[in-house]
Amino acid sequence: MKELEDRIRKEGRVFPGNILKVDSFLNHQVDIKLLDDIGNEFYRLYKFAGVTKILTIEASGIAIASMTAYHFQVPFVFAKKAHSANLGKNVYTSTVHSYTYNKDYPITISQDYLNERDTVLIVDDFLANGKAAEGLLDICKQAGAKVAGIGICVEKGFQTGGKELRDKGVRVTSLAIIDSMSDHDLTFRSHVTEQ
Ligand code: 5GP
Repeated sequence: MKELEDRIRKEGRVFPGNILKVDSFLNHQVDIKLLDDIGNEFYRLYKFAGVTKILTIEASGIAIASMTAYHFQVPFVFAKKAHSANLGKNVYTSTVHSYTYNKDYPITISQDYLNERDTVLIVDDFLANGKAAEGLLDICKQAGAKVAGIGICVEKGFQTGGKELRDKGVRVTSLAIIDSMSDHDLTFRSHVTEQ
């Protein structure tokens, strides 16, 4: 998605540990017009997939999931990162290794909001080693929900997550794929836009 690539080129900042910061338009301050276009693009890609729910993990996935859900006119659900007591006992849980904080954390979703009648589109801001996506896939499996695919804003294509998920047969659609990055250079993978 050219609009997203242009913004990353202009405002993205590369930090040690292969971290790309996009705080000025996606991860801290949020550009609502760009977010609308992202939601619309995910809708274009998955509109015939029978999606009943958009799924993500708090916190940075929430804005993306919300705008995407608006385009689909379906609810979105976000996995909570703490095992919060007020979710009750009927929960699905999984464990995710955090790329940015380098530690494991639990994710939890109430069984009230995901079940075998759902077809899910998972969305997130970044795809690196695929651990967040795998945690959400695990929860969908526990719920018996069908997964239409995974919509990612920025995939770091030099890390293994995207390839591993696609090798498993999961449909992964990334709006921008970075093949290499350093503090003075970013290379995007040229990809034919999916229909
Ligand atoms: P993964 O689970 O695929 O290894 O990492 C994806 C998660 O880690 C995303 O939910 C995202 O929040 C965070 N993440 C991974 N790489 C980056 C990065 O380069 N920049 C930012 N801002 N977040 C990242």
